[in-house]
Amino acid sequence: MLSCVKCGRRYGEFVTSCNDCGSPLVVDYEDREWKPNGQGVWRYQSMIPVSGSISLSEGNTPLVRRRDVDEEIFMKLEGDNPTGSFKDRGSTVVISDAFNKKYNCAVVASTGNMGASVAAYCAYANIKARVFIPEDVTEEKISQISVYGAELVRVAGGFSKAVERSKEDARGKGCYLAMTGLNPYFIEGLKTISFELFEQMGVPDKIIVPTGSGGLITAIFKGFLELRDLGVLRTLPQMISVQSDVVAPIVDAWRTGGDIVIPKEVKTIASAIMVKLPFNGYSAIEAIKKSGGIGVTVTDYQILRAIKDLGREGVFAEPASAAAYAALEEFDYRRDERIALMITGSGLKDPAAVLKNPV
Ligand SMILES: [Zn+2]
Repeated sequence: MLSCVKCGRRYGEFVTSCNDCGSPLVVDYEDREWKPNGQGVWRYQSMIPVSGSISLSEGNTPLVRRRDVDEEIFMKLEGDNPTGSFKDRGSTVVISDAFNKKYNCAVVASTGNMGASVAAYCAYANIKARVFIPEDVTEEKISQISVYGAELVRVAGGFSKAVERSKEDARGKGCYLAMTGLNPYFIEGLKTISFELFEQMGVPDKIIVPTGSGGLITAIFKGFLELRDLGVLRTLPQMISVQSDVVAPIVDAWRTGGDIVIPKEVKTIASAIMVKLPFNGYSAIEAIKKSGGIGVTVTDYQILRAIKDLGREGVFAEPASAAAYAALEEFDYRRDERIALMITGSGLKDPAAVLKNPV
């Protein structure tokens, strides 16, 4: 069963977003049970409403404790996924669904990482992928997408325009729409991060999540809520959303208590979270509020410093991921709290970023 996050309309059949109001849908999966078995994302098959058929051995990522501090701060290294970012957890689920439903083409709009991920899973499933991408995405990300054989469509006017184009294209050509916010199954894959974290460290006190469209923080909170509803755990982690100070529609709306306002044209080094119109924005704000968490922003200068600090601990993170580390400067925490940082993507995604001078 699917339900609309905004108007509450319920759907017994799969649709990608609400037919009435266009908002994202969430899966309310009544038959789920906690029966971990096997490895990676599909270890949690009993919690996922799609039968796993297309997998590149995603998930099962390392949780590494920071070495040089007394506090228990852990880094979840999602860059270790097959295409170098957490998106693979969602792609394995949605492309399995496309494959099970016998689609021969899939469409996605992306700031880079989701395009690469969907392209890889489509390649493995023998499904044609078309990736709509804003003009300013780095060459490294473009080359990764092309190697997987996807058709690339560069779109002027930023990510929101790319999303519009991908929706039209999927509708016109009868292709599967494979992206977060426009496909509720993507979140169902992403939420497996929570299950892994729980098995690796129990329930963290705080989880810091770099936030672009809002899909990841929505998914992580959903995962913990499901475990609580099943009686597997009792407490929930506080969700801390981090955005760039120049593109922070979710954190701004959380601070003001008002609607999400689309920021004007701005740039940040953290391209993977440069999302002006966040599709999962309202559910992200709900995750922050319901968990007693907070929203924080960091500057490009803090991000560049954080990339270097993480490097000194043996972790190469892309700028958006380093934002999670930089966020530690932006709020107070007790020494006995256990904190998990979502290092969402590999530094190899954008290796030149570190050469930019902090401004
Ligand atoms: Zn609706």
